[in-house]
Order: sequence, then C-alpha cells, then structure tokens
Amino acid sequence: METLTHTRIVMRQQCPMKEHLHYVERLRPLEIQWPLTVGSVWHTAIEALAKGASEDEAVQAGLAALDWIRPADEEEQYKLDLERARIEVMIRFAARRFRPRKFIAVEKEFLLPIINPATGRKSRKFALGGKVDAIAEDEDGRLWVVENKTTGTSIGQFRETYGLNNQLTLYAYAVSRMLERPVAGIIVRAVVKSRAEPKKKGGEIVESWDEYKARLLAAYEAEPDKYLAEDTVERTPEQLAQFEAELWLETQERLWQTKTGVIRHNTANCSLYGGCPFRPLCLGVEGARESMYRVSQTAHDELSEAV
Ligand code: SF4
Repeated sequence: METLTHTRIVMRQQCPMKEHLHYVERLRPLEIQWPLTVGSVWHTAIEALAKGASEDEAVQAGLAALDWIRPADEEEQYKLDLERARIEVMIRFAARRFRPRKFIAVEKEFLLPIINPATGRKSRKFALGGKVDAIAEDEDGRLWVVENKTTGTSIGQFRETYGLNNQLTLYAYAVSRMLERPVAGIIVRAVVKSRAEPKKKGGEIVESWDEYKARLLAAYEAEPDKYLAEDTVERTPEQLAQFEAELWLETQERLWQTKTGVIRHNTANCSLYGGCPFRPLCLGVEGARESMYRVSQTAHDELSEAV
C-alpha cells in the first residue's frame, strides 16, 4: 500500500519525475533545504507550546532542530544565525499572541482508505496519510483542524490563498473521516517571516544578534495585525465531495502512469521555487547521484513509520 499525502500529491502536480525521485527513490539533497529546516523548527516549537511548554522552552525545543547543521563557511554561519534569530522572534511572538485553545490532539497522524465515490470501493494500492498540527474543540463542542503556518508574503496575500488551498480541504476531509464527526473548519494561524537583517554600516554588521531580535520583536508587537493571522476557514460538503472525487482520480492517474512505464518530466517546473533540487540528475551530470544526494530510510520523513 502506498501512502499519498498532501505534499506528495502536490509534488506530482509540480513534476511526476520530481515526485518519483523524492518518494520512490527516496533521494534527498545533501545541501541544506532552508525552507524545510525552518518549517521543522517552527512546527516543533508550536507543538511544544500546544503541549503546555513555556515560551522559553518552546524556543529551546524548536531551535534544537537546527543543531545538526555544521556551517561550511562564514556565509552559511551568517545564514544560520539569521534564521535562528528570525525564527526565535516568530516563536516568541506566536507564544504571546496565538489565542489559547482546547486541543484534543496535537500532531495527529491519520491513515485512511481512499474510496471510489461512485462505488464505495476502497483503493487496494493507495491510502491517504498525513499529520495535522492539532485538533481543537470550541466552547460549543465543534471540532476544528488547526494549521500553523509561516509565510513570506503579506498577511493579505496569504489570506487570498485560503479559498483554493487543497491542504486545508484535505485536512478537513481526513479529520472528519478519522473521527467520524463533522469538522466545523480549519483554524489557520500564521506569522509573517520578516526579511529584515541586522543593521550594517559600510558593509559591516553594527548590531548584535540580541539587539536585532529585540528590534524585530518590537516591530512585530507594534503592528500585530500586520504580522499575524488567526482565521477560521470553512469547506462546504460540495467542496469535500469534489476533493474526494479528485483524490480517486489521482489514484487512477498513478495506476495509468505505472502501466505505461513512463514518468513525465514537467520542465516548466525546473526553475520555479528557487530551482528543483534534482536538476543535476535530469541534466545527467556525471557522479551527481552519488555525490549530491543521500537515500532516506523513509518515503515520508514527516510521518512515523506506521504511516
Ligand atoms: S529538474 Fe525539472 S524535470 Fe527534473 S525532476 Fe526537477 S522539475 Fe522535474
């Protein structure tokens, strides 16, 4: 049985070969993937907060996820210090501003049969898997999926993504199936990632990391609505039914791909999102596979082995 997650489905939409290299061959670039690394710090820290950790404990838990990085040069050391400072400020800001919730589950994994809506038959080849950041219950006893995000865009631009965000639809669908209860919607909690850097004069940094963090936190606190969102997003039964139908279609497309033995290269994607990490492989660079990638033990690094 193969597990389809939101990330896996999206990666195949981007490029079927990219998805094959990541999930079937399990290749991971040796180069640091900063967005993934920062995302892991953020989720670790917010999970700690949801489980009752103090602000300092959450910062400590989150930043520990960067301890494995050994900067290769001064430039990488600066990048690491900058990311550490920025994410620490974001965690402290979230700890002070996110509304307290009654969480009934934190970092909850799911693994569900994929169903053909026309016949009710389960897929024998694929299952739907994933992990939601949390599930909360409100004062009226309604269930909400909680998603904690960081965004490099403005809060206004970020909110524009809610309507067509398939991850939110998938989580609402999966949690209601898993708990066999309707879900009222998704609570999206997001903090904007600042692009500000320490002050420089004549190319030299003239601000300590502590001064920089204090300045950044003060900027966040001065305009919280500019840097933080905590919104409810709903999905109609029709949207969930459409999602279920498309999920089944996804399984059929994959079966067809396997049958043909052909994996498409979507070359329109190669240069997007900072460039595909598998370009050297698709370009046929000699020795790239051995020198630039490792093979992961797991197909889904974010999930437990059971999933
Ligand atoms: S380099 Fe391009 S074709 Fe190759 S896997 Fe990446 S996106 Fe696909």
